[in-house]
Amino acid sequence: MKHFPIFVALEGRRVVLSGGGDAALAKLRLLLKTEAHLTVFAPSPAQEIEDWHAAGKLRLVRRAMEPGDTTCAVLFYAADEDDAEDARTSAIARADGALVNIVDNLQDSAFITPAIVDRDPVTVAIGTEGAAPVLARAIKADLEARLPATLGTLARIGKAFRKAVEVLPMGRKRRDFWSEYYFGTGPRAMDEGGEEAVNNALPALLDTHVKAEERQGHVAFVGAGPGDPELLTLKARKALDAADVVIHDRLVTPEVLELARREATLIDAGKTGFGPSMSQEEINALIVEHAATGAQVVRLKGGDPTVFGRLDEEIDAVDAAGIGWHIVPGITAASAGVAAIGQSLTKRQRNAAVRFVTGHDMKGYAEQDWAALAQPGEVAAIYMGKKSSRFIQGRLLMHGADRATPVSIVENASRPEQRIVATTVARMAQDLEAADLDGPALTFIGLAPRAAEASLSLSTQEFA
Ligand code: SAH
Repeated sequence: MKHFPIFVALEGRRVVLSGGGDAALAKLRLLLKTEAHLTVFAPSPAQEIEDWHAAGKLRLVRRAMEPGDTTCAVLFYAADEDDAEDARTSAIARADGALVNIVDNLQDSAFITPAIVDRDPVTVAIGTEGAAPVLARAIKADLEARLPATLGTLARIGKAFRKAVEVLPMGRKRRDFWSEYYFGTGPRAMDEGGEEAVNNALPALLDTHVKAEERQGHVAFVGAGPGDPELLTLKARKALDAADVVIHDRLVTPEVLELARREATLIDAGKTGFGPSMSQEEINALIVEHAATGAQVVRLKGGDPTVFGRLDEEIDAVDAAGIGWHIVPGITAASAGVAAIGQSLTKRQRNAAVRFVTGHDMKGYAEQDWAALAQPGEVAAIYMGKKSSRFIQGRLLMHGADRATPVSIVENASRPEQRIVATTVARMAQDLEAADLDGPALTFIGLAPRAAEASLSLSTQEFA
């Protein structure tokens, strides 16, 4: 970084510019936004400069600059667009101790003027050290479009209200208040009734936050279902609507997260890819930490929170902290999976019981009652069974399972990318490998897709 961005205090300070043409006009338009005392030296100034002078916005001296003209100036702009004249005027200013900028002469300038996005008092300065003015302009245009024109007004009103907000404890509580003001209440009130409405909305907003302060924290363990947001329960939606904090795992789809309250803080507790995912202890601590500050926490888990969700460990941690909680059930992957293949989990005269089993547990591949699972007519839904499919296949065959026992694997059940692999115990491991699934997948032992059931061929089939 060859130039360090700073914001210079110009209120009541002296800024001098030499020049009266286009370059001078461009700089003056920016400088007129400040509260500096502006003096312009120009033997033949453009009409606009005359007008600004007449309006009292700057002081115009209709002659070339002389030594002594830049006394006490903080900044000086050489904008005569003439190398010799710029060198002469900037030498005078330098001698008077001003920071000098020569228009279109990066080399001899002590500072450069950035592209500015002005939402006073919020100001964004964009600089490319002269390397790419086009880029600076593009970034400026992008930000201009993105930042609402009323942002500055909101910030100004907000600034005046800062003292009142000190009734809220520092940290998260205050941050929550301000984020709701800037991204919710503030812009809404501005749209509805301008500055006055914003001024009126602030005390009411603060009041809600002060009252919320006295509110007890609470944790809702909510089932997010298999992915399709329409498979959320009404209670899950309500909980998401009221959440201050949503702590979700990797299985929860973006479409479901989209339904969380806009102001809620979303925390991904199942992040993989960049380093290891959070440990269960860290997740427990995170839930407790947020609820302890009075937040309404939604612990959002894929499917049903009570199925292979390590729910009890989280409940124990919340209980130990003396925090209230409740469970909102969700549609588990097994339910969404059988729906996808058009089958029932139980069926008269076929199976009076169904097992939900996990492919692996904390110790590795999970052992099950294989002898029972290998019986004809048995139905099992295997969660987390992708990696362990060869192990499961081996165990089933070892315990005498019929090689032709149907097996259905449903990947991404209920989601647009849903895929079904129909196979048999004899071929399940190799067919699964060949299908190269990368989403969550559920393996059903003892169930074929209803459509494939009729056909004798039980070779691999995929249904989009
Ligand atoms: N509580 C969850 C299960 C968590 S264990 C539930 O009730 O569904 C994670 C496993 O669930 C995954 O490895 C996969 O086997 C299964 N699973 C979750 N969502 C799934 C989906 N949409 N389609 C297929 N399998 C899914």
